Amino acid sequence: MTTPVYQNFINGHFLKNQSGETFAVKNPATDDVIYYVEVADAFIQNAAIQSAKQGFAAWSTMSPIERSRILLKAVALLRERNDLLAKTEVLDTGKPWQEAECVDVQTGADVIEYFAGLAPAQVGQQQMVGEDFYYTRKEPLGICAGIGAWNYPLQIACWKSGPALAAGNAFIFKPSEETPLGAIKLAEIFIEAGVPAGVFNVVQGAAEVGQWLTQSADIEKVSFTGEVGTGKKVVASAAGSLKDVTMELGGKSPLLVFDDADISQAVSAAMLGNFYTQGEICTNCTRIYVHKNVYQQFIDELKTRTEENIIAGDPLDPNVNFGALISKKHQQLVMSYIDKGISEGATLLTGGKTLSPASAPNGYFVAPTVFIDCTDDMTIVKEEIFGPVMSVLTFDDEDDVIHRANDTHLGLAAGVFTKDIKRAHRVIHQLQAGICWINSYGNSPAEMPVGGYKQSGIGRENGIETLDHYTQTKSIYVGMTNIESPF
Ligand code: NAD
Repeated sequence: MTTPVYQNFINGHFLKNQSGETFAVKNPATDDVIYYVEVADAFIQNAAIQSAKQGFAAWSTMSPIERSRILLKAVALLRERNDLLAKTEVLDTGKPWQEAECVDVQTGADVIEYFAGLAPAQVGQQQMVGEDFYYTRKEPLGICAGIGAWNYPLQIACWKSGPALAAGNAFIFKPSEETPLGAIKLAEIFIEAGVPAGVFNVVQGAAEVGQWLTQSADIEKVSFTGEVGTGKKVVASAAGSLKDVTMELGGKSPLLVFDDADISQAVSAAMLGNFYTQGEICTNCTRIYVHKNVYQQFIDELKTRTEENIIAGDPLDPNVNFGALISKKHQQLVMSYIDKGISEGATLLTGGKTLSPASAPNGYFVAPTVFIDCTDDMTIVKEEIFGPVMSVLTFDDEDDVIHRANDTHLGLAAGVFTKDIKRAHRVIHQLQAGICWINSYGNSPAEMPVGGYKQSGIGRENGIETLDHYTQTKSIYVGMTNIESPF
């Protein structure tokens, strides 16, 4: 069987590039090349802009309720094809089927559905000013771009395109070069649902194609998901044409476990927030601060459950709950952090090695890893690892742990476990993070705005406010009286 080659998706169909340049995509669980993708060269880039201009002309003049009706058809197709799409995500990312089957497609569809519902309800205002008055219109921005990370490829494409399209914009999306297929499948679904050609385009490639999107003067906004360092480059480049930006970046989020907490629940949260999607989630609580009084109980249960309940292996096996990391390079990076943890004096409670499970011997697995005896100055406690590596620290004073939790330039997420409701809110109000959980961790429904404080991001995704970020307000003053002119 020949290996498939995917082209860029422009103006409602696949379009061949002129350079002939392609890149290979591997299945992280097998190390096999599963398909090739054509790079968006100058010809494709130009075609994408022309296509988006035409798409915008058709889409932005439809009424919001017409757009909503079409987007809801796309939502139905996404749900109908859940299993096919989930399999694509498993093969591209290495994450377990168990997760993709019930999370990736559904949370993507939820967000498009949410914004399709909201768009017709977005209204301007009018106000009398003397006998004159003004009114406002919420108009789309024009052509918006999305640049995605590799951990939730289809979900990210949906979270960015949902509000953009609902508000009447055209979109050019560049998925991560590690996981390009989900966005293509979404593009096909939009066309099938009746979204006009050119409204949603997919361009493929790595940093250079991303840079082109951030520089293009025809693009009004860029919504980026990725690392803090890349995000800074994107903002700097977008400044050249004063583009609007949304930045969903990395984190090093704290989870505070007080001594009155339900410890089993706190262990569940810590495991979900470090080992779900084999640790490749931006909001992960990779710094776990446990009150000294419950520390032993916490780490005993954590060790037992990590060693007994995590099943690594072929991600397509429905019994497997722990998959392979995205690439060999990333596996090596995560292992280098583990080596640093050991050399800087942390103690391995469990894990700390690569795995080669019988059902996926060539996959890029790293064992679920827990470090104890950690201190705030260690590299593993300070830097985002983006793998299954948890650092456990202890505390005995509320003010002190809040100070330590906030002592970072990142501020994506935070969590608190306690049964004392006053403490729960008092503490969470002082934590410098955009996404917070009390006695819970990780849930991110379409209705809830998400985004980072400090260097973890700019702007928000999801929630009502995001629709405003994809529109601009036009004010129209209406003169009902004669102009009084001194001239
Ligand atoms: P990355 O920054 O390496 O790449 C992200 C995207 O940017 C890719 O599509 C890449 O091709 C593109 N890119 C690279 N250089 C570019 C440039 N100079 N200009 C424009 N685009 C460029 O990130 P990654 O490794 O794909 O993803 C992991 C990171 O993403 C982690 O830091 C994680 O925390 C973060 N993340 C954040 C969220 C969130 O919502 N806050 C969600 C998922 C992932």
